[in-house]
Amino acid sequence: MKAQTKILHSIPADELTGAISTPIYQTSTFVQDAPGVNRGYDYSRTNNPTRATLEKLVAELEGGSHGFAFASGLAAIDAVVKLLAAGDEILAVDDIYGGAFRLFTHVYQKLGIGVRYTDTTDVAKVAAAITPRTKLIWIETPTNPTLKISDIRAIAVLAKAHHVLLCVDNTFASPAAQTPLALGADIVVHSATKYLAGHSDVIAGVVVTKTAALGDQIKFIQNASGAILGPFDSWLTIRGIETLPLRIAQHSKNAQAVAEFLQTQDLVRNVYYPGLSTHHNHAIAQQQQQYFGGVVSFDLQIDEADVATQLVKSTRYFQLAESLGGVKSLICLPSEMTHKSIPAEIRRRAGVTDSLIRLSVGLEDAEDLIDDLKKAIRVATGRLATAAF
Ligand SMILES: *Cc1c(COP(=O)(O)O)cnc(C)c1O
Repeated sequence: MKAQTKILHSIPADELTGAISTPIYQTSTFVQDAPGVNRGYDYSRTNNPTRATLEKLVAELEGGSHGFAFASGLAAIDAVVKLLAAGDEILAVDDIYGGAFRLFTHVYQKLGIGVRYTDTTDVAKVAAAITPRTKLIWIETPTNPTLKISDIRAIAVLAKAHHVLLCVDNTFASPAAQTPLALGADIVVHSATKYLAGHSDVIAGVVVTKTAALGDQIKFIQNASGAILGPFDSWLTIRGIETLPLRIAQHSKNAQAVAEFLQTQDLVRNVYYPGLSTHHNHAIAQQQQQYFGGVVSFDLQIDEADVATQLVKSTRYFQLAESLGGVKSLICLPSEMTHKSIPAEIRRRAGVTDSLIRLSVGLEDAEDLIDDLKKAIRVATGRLATAAF
């Protein structure tokens, strides 16, 4: 069975009524047949049929033993960190998602869980940074917003040798493009807000574990901490996932066309996209990804926020907003938006220059998207006084 068939047919019709769309079990509790005798469900924090369908689906997509759905991507990340104890250390990718940085550095460090950051695109640097206290290696690949690629298979070998867990934040690739568990990772997390749900209409998170033993631990934490995804949001996420492979294929095709177009522009300095042969880890991306995804970043020859601001304000189809992974294209200026809280020097060192622009390439026609950027670039270069739409 091929991926798209599997996705559609691993969602069962409702046993009770035959409903082909998973029913939204909007209930907190379940009537019991006798004290302690129930039909598999007793309280919706512990388990809910709509959420259970989503959890089974994501476990299958990622090739894991168990899946868990949380109220946000950060709640999912939080559940994984709770596998650790005071005195343990996380070794994390230096180009980490800002929310994960905030959680590790400003919430867990004061509770005694240490964190050190390193450039995980270089396996030797990961090896050098592991200490006896390291219990969890945390990578994102591709990263946000400069699309850096880390070698999942090589880091997994290293993690095993040191008896350290490897968790991959697979948000940017999605399981349609990359399945880290098959490459040796122990845990996958997602901001399902992005490609999994895919329509910019829900905040959700997912954890998938490779083994049942890790699954039992996450299940315990999910129930104990309680940051579960509600039934309606579970339903929206299931509905989004039904078209995931189709969307990722088209997002990637559009993004490749946009990235290649940007490379031809005089105003553009660097284009960051793993699908370009000029990307420094293109070969690894090719090995571990089936698609290169829908996010493209670029910066400008004139590295000034003013010029970049003019550009991001001049697009019509790329709408100015944070987030990514939805069907509609978005554009953002990380130095003024998503990455504003990071000190300028650290931010610039990570490649997030003042003029860096991030695109979440949507499912509009690629020609229209390129045309849109062409006009905005013309406005930014000052060849047009006003946008000519
Ligand atoms: C958005 C995002 C998160 C956080 O997810 P939320 O659903 O916003 O809590 C985590 N990791 C990555 C890579 C993200 O892009």
